[in-house]
Amino acid sequence: MIPPLSARRKRFIKQLAVTEVSLNMSIADNIKAIRSVLPEHVRLVAVSKFHPVGSITEAYQAGQRIFGESKVQEMTAKYESLPKDIEWHFIGHLQSNKVKYMVPYVSMIHGIDSYKLLAEVDKQARKAGRKVNCLLQIHIATEESKFGFDFQECRRMLEEGQWKELEYVTVCGLMGMATFTDRTEQIRDEFNSLSSFFNELKNTYFKDIPSFKELSMGMSDDYPLAIEAGSTLVRVGSRIFGERNY
Ligand SMILES: *Cc1c(COP(=O)(O)O)cnc(C)c1O
Repeated sequence: MIPPLSARRKRFIKQLAVTEVSLNMSIADNIKAIRSVLPEHVRLVAVSKFHPVGSITEAYQAGQRIFGESKVQEMTAKYESLPKDIEWHFIGHLQSNKVKYMVPYVSMIHGIDSYKLLAEVDKQARKAGRKVNCLLQIHIATEESKFGFDFQECRRMLEEGQWKELEYVTVCGLMGMATFTDRTEQIRDEFNSLSSFFNELKNTYFKDIPSFKELSMGMSDDYPLAIEAGSTLVRVGSRIFGERNY
């Protein structure tokens, strides 16, 4: 059973009239409802962190193939026990010493927040003999706690150019999280700022690099706004699987 929606989410849904997802729907129903409102160019990352393998299996049986996790150990255990056509996206804060455990199988790492981390992924990916897709995480929220490059740091890193020599990572785009707030205008501004920054980088550093095409933004409470702002990957957890028990 899916627990009741938070007051914040109820207000949000009312505000945007994205009503398909209602109380007590199954995981499969939630996935169908979300899919029905996603434009064709937007992919759904089902964020399964803290949810059991059984819940992932339900989503898998509903056709979902991309899952997001935020702890390396948890993701690796799930990878080992679930079908191998699942694409695992790592969306959490990544410590350098954990990179090696997931490079053999991970589909995309969303949270690259330093050159050092990108270089570590490259090093481990080389050892594993496969290229790993990465997104640069950009800090767009007003909260201190969220990780990521600020715009200037990111420009500086790209300008320095060392990243171009990393043969085992593909920089596929950007990821960001909006401030946790009810203020729709603020969330929209933050997503738009990330979207503009993506276009700036695309035109400056990635002109001839077609793989730079992903904009990972939008979660359960704000994914419709993120889509309006140009998201290509929405990361939705509680709206599919219910609230998490940490
Ligand atoms: C947990 C998490 C999500 C999913 O959050 P919901 O609000 O449950 O949809 C998305 N992105 C990141 C980076 C997360 O850590």
